[in-house]
Amino acid sequence: MGNSKVLLYVLHGAWDSQSADGVMVLGVSVDIEPLQKRLDEIAESKAGEFVEMCGYIQEEHGERYYEAVNVSGKYAKFYITEHYVELSESLMGEISRDMEKLDRSRDVEEYLRNLYDGGSVIPWVHEYMDGNEEVMEEILQLFGKAEDCNTPFNTTMDIVVGSVIKSLRLDDEKLEYLWEKFGDILIDDDECILDDFMGFECGTHREIVWRWFDEHHSKGVVHLMLGPVPEKIVCKKCGTEVRPEEDEELRNEYPYYCPECDENKYSFECEGGVTDEYKDIVPLPGCQQL
Ligand SMILES: [Zn+2]
Repeated sequence: MGNSKVLLYVLHGAWDSQSADGVMVLGVSVDIEPLQKRLDEIAESKAGEFVEMCGYIQEEHGERYYEAVNVSGKYAKFYITEHYVELSESLMGEISRDMEKLDRSRDVEEYLRNLYDGGSVIPWVHEYMDGNEEVMEEILQLFGKAEDCNTPFNTTMDIVVGSVIKSLRLDDEKLEYLWEKFGDILIDDDECILDDFMGFECGTHREIVWRWFDEHHSKGVVHLMLGPVPEKIVCKKCGTEVRPEEDEELRNEYPYYCPECDENKYSFECEGGVTDEYKDIVPLPGCQQL
């Protein structure tokens, strides 16, 4: 494989408003059209986004250039130029490796889709793996190690994907990832989901999906909705939020101070509480409490 040449078009500009000047590459493309479109936009606004010119402006606009000058000497000039860029052998190698990787990830995606359609993968596993870059990276790496010319491609795929699927456990971290994905699913006015999600069909009420999350997350769905619930420490006697004692010596015995009672407090005189803004949240019937 030798070196290879590519023709690139570059749109660049230079301007001077006398108080400020600049030079900038505005676009690089193998396709000249988007750059010409951009050049036309610049011409239309008389390069207003770069230099504000008043008075008479002398303009010239061609397919690959735009120039504007005014009487006080302010100017803006834009050109599209052609450049042949040589791609080195190592860069070509990198590109073809990337293409292979892309090709391979398409195969994996298709394989996963077929598994799911055939009912061989449970819905959350499919949802978790689908579009997950980390998982894909892991599969591709395993593939690289497992592949040899004697094993048929499909067998290697079975082994690699199978072992990744087997290693997945539904823990809080995965539930949090799935919850994020669930956040992208739109709902209608009746709070029903407008797309299939994790085996729940389009039209399912979202509370049904919430319940699924509630059952599986160790801290319940409220935790997923609100994130970690901030705790405050309150005085058992009056319910006021206490402050940490600032005096170092006092702190050994009385870690808190209650401003309402105006007293130093032992830790057993205080307790953790849920902050007011979370107190009013009523969980779904049957769901875990805060
Ligand atoms: Zn108190």
